[in-house]
Parts: sequence; C-alpha cells; structure tokens
Amino acid sequence: MTMKIKRVAIVGGTHGNELTGVMLVKKFLHYTQLVKRQSFETFCLLANPRAIDQTRRYIDRDLNRCFDRHDLANPALTGYENILAKQLFACYGSGGSEPVDVIFDLHSTTANMGTTIIPISNSPANLQLAAYLSSLDPSIHIYLGLHSEQNSPMLRSMAPVGCTIEMGAISPGVVEANILQNAERLVLAALDYLDNLNQGVPMTIPTTVNLYWAIEAIDYPRNGQNELTAMIHPDRQSQDYQPISLKDPLFLDLQGRTICYQEEQTVFPVFINEAAYYEKGIAMVFTKQQTVATDYFS
Ligand SMILES: [Zn+2]
Repeated sequence: MTMKIKRVAIVGGTHGNELTGVMLVKKFLHYTQLVKRQSFETFCLLANPRAIDQTRRYIDRDLNRCFDRHDLANPALTGYENILAKQLFACYGSGGSEPVDVIFDLHSTTANMGTTIIPISNSPANLQLAAYLSSLDPSIHIYLGLHSEQNSPMLRSMAPVGCTIEMGAISPGVVEANILQNAERLVLAALDYLDNLNQGVPMTIPTTVNLYWAIEAIDYPRNGQNELTAMIHPDRQSQDYQPISLKDPLFLDLQGRTICYQEEQTVFPVFINEAAYYEKGIAMVFTKQQTVATDYFS
C-alpha cells in the first residue's frame, strides 16, 4: 500500500441489534488508548444510533444497503437510514469533510461463519490486509461478497481500504465475551499492521490468500404467497464453508422430503440461515474457493 493512512474508522452498530460490534466500539470509545496509534488518527463510530437504542437491525431500511451512490444523490429518499447514510457519506466519504482512508465495520451473523473478513474490494491493499490478518489466525475465512466493489451500497464502501468483520454464530441482541475478544484482537492487530505499514516497518505479508468468492445467493423454497415451504436441511445447518456437491441435501420441506443440490459444480455455502436474510430472500450464498496472489489484481 503506497498511500499514507491518515484516518481510520472503527464502526459498530451499522445494524443496531448486532451487539458485539456495538459493545466493542463502546469499549474503544471508553478506553481510547487501546486504538490510538502513532501514525494515524483512529476514531470510533456507532453508525445507527436509533436502531442501537431499540436493539433493531434498522428503523426504515437496512443502513448497510443505503450507500449506493445514486441513492445518496437521490433527494426523494428520506427514510431515517437514507438520511443517515447521506450525512455519514458527506462527512466520512471521499470528498467529505473528514474523509476516512480505512474502515473496519463490525457485524455479527446467526450463521456459523466464525470470524469472516469481507474486504472492501479485491485491490492488493485490501487482499494484503486480509491475508495478513488471516495469517495470524488460520480459522479466519475471507469472503468476497456480491457487493465487493467500490460504489457498493455497503457502509464500508465509503473508504478505499478496510473490511467488514463478520462474527458468528450469534443471535441478534446477544453479546458473547469470546466472540467480542476475537473481534477485539483482530481490530487491534489490524491497527498495528496499518501503523507499521505507514511507518515503513518491514512485515511478512503472505503472497497468496485463500478466498471464498460469492457466486449467487439462493432463496428458500416458497409458495405463491411467498411463504416458506422448506427449511435448511439438518445436514446443511451450521455447515458454512463446507462443500456441497451434486445431490447433497439442501432443504427439508414440511412433508419431510429432502430437496437436494442439483448443480454439477461443488460450491461452499455461507450465510446459511442468516436471520436477517429471510426478508432479503436469501437462504445462503454459494461461493467458490480460490487461492490468489495478493498482488494478483494490481
Ligand atoms: Zn450486520
């Protein structure tokens, strides 16, 4: 990374009911020395205050889908989160009053994904950051989602570098100490990495990284009234990042019949049975696994 990092944002509560991130950011706001580094300014942000107060994911609309640049420029969008996103972008986005160079956006999931890093983009700076962090803890997975480009609707897209950190499995509205501690270790290690990078301290950065690329999101089986007619199959529940191949069980319908995976390509499902994705029509996201050089896209 050749750019000099001046401001780093640690964000929690983009989804108001994801308590791990909210609690961790509150901790950092209280113990500011933890996140202070010599070569840049770190600041902490609770992104959706009203949703946090009500322990809800959002008030009017998912804040993490409000950062599409056309939506930000659309005066007709006046819901709470649309206005919030415009305010956040005017402040912290590129060209804003206090633009940030790096964002860590802390989320949690009901899916059994452990700690998952979702880089802002597949640029070398982002892949190297993700590769470095996963080298510290091999249980970490790196996922490139369906919105892995700049100008995506995600909050993280305000900055060129950084990632979403997903932690699971945990229920909304619940915090667990071990999950919070994992996230804290990761964030502090990321700050150290950026500080070293800024100061030209030599570091061992892996030259390759193992990625899970999103291919497609699939919905639950539903009837004409959009009601669910099947559930995640018991053999598939909590099996995030485990391969699924032709004729493997996928769903179980209400008559007890197994619905199998019908494609030839073996894929690696993630976000299996994520609670917040029922309304988005997503039962899981299929990914393909690929090892790439961390400067592959330069
Ligand atoms: Zn979230």
